[in-house]
Amino acid sequence: MSIYLDNAATTKPCAEAVEAITAALTDNYGNPSSLHRAGLDAQLVVDKARRSIAKAIGCDISGVVFTSGATESNNLALRGASAVYGKRRKRIVVSSVEHASVAETISDLEKSGFEIVRVCPNANGEFRAADFIAACDENTCLISIMAVNNETGHILPVQETFSAVKRLFPEIITHCDCVQAFMKLPVKAKMLCADLISLSGHKIHAAKGIGALCISKGTRLIPIITGGAQEKGIRSGTESVPLIAGFGAAADKLLPSVYERYERAAVLRAYLLGRLGEIDVVMVNSPKDGSPYVINISVVGRRSEIMLHFLEQKGIYVSSGSACSKGAQSGVLVEFGLSRERADSALRVSITADTTEAELDAFVDALKEGYSKVRG
Ligand code: PLP
Repeated sequence: MSIYLDNAATTKPCAEAVEAITAALTDNYGNPSSLHRAGLDAQLVVDKARRSIAKAIGCDISGVVFTSGATESNNLALRGASAVYGKRRKRIVVSSVEHASVAETISDLEKSGFEIVRVCPNANGEFRAADFIAACDENTCLISIMAVNNETGHILPVQETFSAVKRLFPEIITHCDCVQAFMKLPVKAKMLCADLISLSGHKIHAAKGIGALCISKGTRLIPIITGGAQEKGIRSGTESVPLIAGFGAAADKLLPSVYERYERAAVLRAYLLGRLGEIDVVMVNSPKDGSPYVINISVVGRRSEIMLHFLEQKGIYVSSGSACSKGAQSGVLVEFGLSRERADSALRVSITADTTEAELDAFVDALKEGYSKVRG
């Protein structure tokens, strides 16, 4: 029996997603571009899922473009929008704690001549909308801010920033990497004032390899994948009907319970923090007002990987940082003001509303045991 506390890395597919994927693989294997009945049936499956994702994030159905995941969505948003809007306006504003799929893409754009302003948190590790707004000017084509940081659960001031930016500089394109907020916090496209929103399937109990970019009416993008002009020419390639169907089914399942699950996650986080209070050497790196789904802590004096593998031997899975950095420190914790030593001993516990108190108890007990048994 394992205890999976690494849900910010990926989630277990839900029964509804598995069923939709299996049904599409078995019964709807047509190519949505084909003109015969099998093609039309596959297209109907894709259309249904598109409606589900549009409803879940609150955007127009025609604005949902399916991609291979949020990494591709972020690339398409940043490269695609800067290619259209960045011909004369060369500045891009971004937070300093973005996921690698944004941060690396931005670095590429910097090399190709864009001026990048990376807005940092203040001394208390908080981002202020005013700092993002002050970084924007007439020369800015794009601003990109993640909704929830994947390593710490910090909630960034997307709505406050984007609504002000749209008032002051309506021509600036706003992009939000919503991966860790979608179906966890009550985020909606209109509320965020985001022209572009990146989503990932495997963080919401669908399969890996599927995501979406939600594009507001009138926002233009140069595609990064060209070919058969699927997805209105914005993302060529035969649609992965099964994965798309699973993504839609997972969103349908979660949408009615976003608030309820948020409340439950908050109760679980409070419970975990209470229990962690029993261990002197544990320091909490996540903010009090962060997403309840991500709890980042440091076990001072014990390196992340060593504790992680001790916990693994007990069947408990957590993360030492973001999964995509393979345990290597991404620098995000230091950016939030943590000392290197504290960052090197960080563990990320990421839960779902279905996590139980008993699982958290087992984690805390194993952590205590690990602290006394392992060194370094
Ligand atoms: N953005 C954030 C905030 C993430 O946490 C992740 C995944 O860890 C991604 C983007 C990339 O998503 P995907 O795995 O779908 O490419």
